[in-house]
Amino acid sequence: MSPRTLLALNWKMNKTPTEAQAWAQDLAAAYAPAEGVDLAVMAPAICLPALAANLPAGVSVGAQDVSAHAAGAYTGEISASMLVDVGARYAVVGHSERRDYQGETDAVVAAKAAQAQAHGLTPIVCVGEKLEVRERGEHVPFTLDQLRGSLRGVGPDVVVAYEPVWAIGTGKTATADDAEELAGAIRGLLSELYGDQASNLRVLYGGSVKPDNIASICAQPNVDGALVGGASLKVADVLGMNDAL
Ligand code: PGA
Repeated sequence: MSPRTLLALNWKMNKTPTEAQAWAQDLAAAYAPAEGVDLAVMAPAICLPALAANLPAGVSVGAQDVSAHAAGAYTGEISASMLVDVGARYAVVGHSERRDYQGETDAVVAAKAAQAQAHGLTPIVCVGEKLEVRERGEHVPFTLDQLRGSLRGVGPDVVVAYEPVWAIGTGKTATADDAEELAGAIRGLLSELYGDQASNLRVLYGGSVKPDNIASICAQPNVDGALVGGASLKVADVLGMNDAL
């Protein structure tokens, strides 16, 4: 049996807590869960209490990052236990923007994922190639190498998001076949790492997903949902994606 579909929203650095509260109330007024689909909102950590208090039942919240450390002298960091305390269920780790702008390595990403798991959060581990890697035809080995490094020491309670960097925020979506090529290869690596449990793990696609392309991408056999940035900010787009699944 394939896993439930996950529609995971990544707000990035958008919305204040006040705006998050209004968004959650608007969603609650119109949302009807789609059969077999889970919805989760990955918001700035400071918005999580407002979301947890106002989202409709069954919609989860998550963070966009988590510290690799449990507690202590790490000024500015937010720990997994703090996120759990405000209701988080997921934490995105290794988003390409953090790999690029904060210089996060695979080892750092793996440490963050393990820390998330140690406190009961499910990490959403992001991987994906840049355009020049795809043009060289090396996108499959590159992405699998990145994933292997990002899962070192990480247990099987994990979601993987394949997000080709050239498709993020550019309006250029990978084709459904491109998404399936990588999702299938990722599933193979998950089987190697986690055995039979791999078939229950969710592999998402991310990169310019919106209401009119989400269905064809998520219909692919190894794609179990989407991680959505730009189209996650407006309630109408989120309802459109939820209805399309
Ligand atoms: P996008 O972002 O949907 O705006 O391309 C996806 C992401 O960065 O997770």
